[in-house]
Amino acid sequence: MEKLKKLLCICIVFAFAAGCTKSTLSFTDSEIAIIDKYHQQKMRLLIYDAAGDSLILRQQAKEFSTADLQSDIFKNLKTQMLLTVQDTANAGVGIAAPQVGISRRLIAVQRFDKPGEPFEFYANAYIAYFSEDKQTGAEGCLSIPNIRGNVERSQTVVVKYADMETLKPCIDTVSGFTAVIFQHEIDHLDGILFIDKLHPDA
Ligand code: ZN
Repeated sequence: MEKLKKLLCICIVFAFAAGCTKSTLSFTDSEIAIIDKYHQQKMRLLIYDAAGDSLILRQQAKEFSTADLQSDIFKNLKTQMLLTVQDTANAGVGIAAPQVGISRRLIAVQRFDKPGEPFEFYANAYIAYFSEDKQTGAEGCLSIPNIRGNVERSQTVVVKYADMETLKPCIDTVSGFTAVIFQHEIDHLDGILFIDKLHPDA
């Protein structure tokens, strides 16, 4: 009887562990086709006033599953987004997946607040806190060529995201210009563009 209990316990633990880690790829065929089309190359940037592009840019982006975050297709998307934002002919300081036609919660931000100013990726990103302390500054966007305008942003934000290695939820408190980039890029994930927020005195 004792042995049976022990066995049952072990089975429950295994079933629970399997349940916790169970996750399936959620990439659609069309998302995979776009990512494969630009394999290891920069991707086409969607432009805000092109009808088809605008539909994608204005969507609410979907989250990734944990299986997505561990997949090669996700790694390729990150590589290709980085090539796109670092294109010397048209470089940016941040990029969001919807800008390359993938309506998913993924952004790359140049961390001007870190040594070496590296680009870092944040998956399933949201802003959990906006400071009341605001600053107004000029912004541009890779999807809105040749337009710049002043936008009021919080001085400090708390960013919530899924760590791509541990898959655990993480938070990061960011201030200054880097906080502006986070707000601009996470707005993209909610279908919002900086031209929606132009300061009246701009
Ligand atoms: Zn933008």
